[in-house]
Amino acid sequence: MTPISRRSFLAATAGLAAAPAFGQSGGSNPDIAIIGAGAAGIAAARRIAAAGKRAIILEAADRVGGRCLTDARKFGVPVDLGAHWIHMPDINPVAKLAPGAGLDVYPAPRGQRLRIGRRYAREGELEDFLAALVRCNRAIQDAARGKADVSCAQAMPKDLGDLQPAIEFFLGPFGCGKDLKDISAVDFAKSAERDIDAFCRQGFGALLAKLAEGLPLELSTPVSLVDAFGRSAVELVTARGRITARAVIVTASTNVLASGKLKFTPDLPKRQLDACDRLSLGSYDRIILELPDNPLGLERDDLLFEKAENERTASLLANVGGANLAFIDVGGKFGRDLAARGERAMTAFATEWLTGLYGTDIGKAVGKSHATQWNASPWALGAFSAAAVGGQPSRRVLMEPFRDRVFFAGEAVHETLWGTVGGAWESGERAAAAALRLFGIVSKPPEQPKVAPQVQRPARAPRPVR
Ligand SMILES: Cc1cc2nc3c(=O)[nH]c(=O)nc-3n(C[C@H](O)[C@H](O)[C@H](O)COP(=O)(O)OP(=O)(O)OC[C@H]3O[C@@H](n4cnc5c(N)ncnc54)[C@H](O)[C@@H]3O)c2cc1C
Repeated sequence: MTPISRRSFLAATAGLAAAPAFGQSGGSNPDIAIIGAGAAGIAAARRIAAAGKRAIILEAADRVGGRCLTDARKFGVPVDLGAHWIHMPDINPVAKLAPGAGLDVYPAPRGQRLRIGRRYAREGELEDFLAALVRCNRAIQDAARGKADVSCAQAMPKDLGDLQPAIEFFLGPFGCGKDLKDISAVDFAKSAERDIDAFCRQGFGALLAKLAEGLPLELSTPVSLVDAFGRSAVELVTARGRITARAVIVTASTNVLASGKLKFTPDLPKRQLDACDRLSLGSYDRIILELPDNPLGLERDDLLFEKAENERTASLLANVGGANLAFIDVGGKFGRDLAARGERAMTAFATEWLTGLYGTDIGKAVGKSHATQWNASPWALGAFSAAAVGGQPSRRVLMEPFRDRVFFAGEAVHETLWGTVGGAWESGERAAAAALRLFGIVSKPPEQPKVAPQVQRPARAPRPVR
């Protein structure tokens, strides 16, 4: 992060008098300013409003939701371009708010299919796959109890045979957005159970947008500097003027923080900068294909993996929400390299991959298509965090306030629900509770959910084999 002196800060802000002033929110002097209108920022703002304090959310993009975004225009139906799976809906704080917001959450089918070449895995083969997954989870759990952290790759059993690439994809790029060699065994082991899921009919991003309605919010307002020199206030430099608040909640992703796009004065402590590096975002992207007339013969919200031979693989979610849409998700290093080659290359991969699995020319069946590129999305710069070896404690380091009035929140700032919307939400509530304490308002921060044993985590019950 580039250091900035007090002098350069004053010079940088001198010209701002001419910038358009803050709009309808009238929020130039809020009690608490929140940087970012993703899940963490929305949760924080709701909590602060409920406590009777004035908050303002400053959002760089021209929309709310951050990495949880539903598009309803590209395909004429709601399509989640970011988060889609609502994990553990019974305890997920966002899922619980859906009925009150008038949106429907329905259970995702349990289980997944496995494709081996051009046929489905037989029952025994699927059981072998699931048993191997359980064994790998257990091996990572065991390794995480060791003296020193290791990578998940180091912890894996060495006798997985030809199941290895499929299992590596499932646990690494699909589950965490990174290859197993880049993921801390301790971080993986600490993540909470995520094997029961739901979907929001109108889209997960639409649900978040609904929950943001009525909150004081300034869109298209990137914050470039957080000046925490003051004893009783923090000044923010934004593209549309300056704001002073008693406290600030920063929800920008770890990659945005590490990029130096958002500067701090005085500089953030090295341990917090290092924490951002250790909690860098993995790569996870979605290629969406319109496939009229169900050419793959799959069911609604059918999830499928392949018994891959190498890392060039993906997951398939078919007939999403009952529409003619297929989500082909790629991640890790392969997904990152593919996404860097652009939307055409991504669509070509997805089409060829499905053609290889089903033997019919899927290219002919494809209507519209679209692919996300989250690594290039300027205010995300990646998908979600997964700690590097030795990086799990960094999540706690980011929970430390900076100069007593700058609080960090976001999916990376959660020890067990990292990488999820629910985790981001809870971290936003926790940061809001901490900021409200400056005003003498004491409320109980949300408890971290109990971590269920990981050994069962990916072993969704097998679906019947056709
Ligand atoms: C493709 C994909 C699939 C995913 N799938 C799932 C899933 O199925 N289930 C699940 O639970 N999670 C999933 N996730 C993860 C989930 O989307 C994130 O964990 C969560 O949305 C992060 O919320 P957040 O508030 O921490 O950060 P963000 O959503 O990134 O919000 C931060 C906000 O801050 C803004 N911002 C950044 N810098 C500035 C600045 N300087 N000034 C002003 N504003 C700024 C950004 O524009 C953004 O709106 C997925 C993510 C991706 C990318």
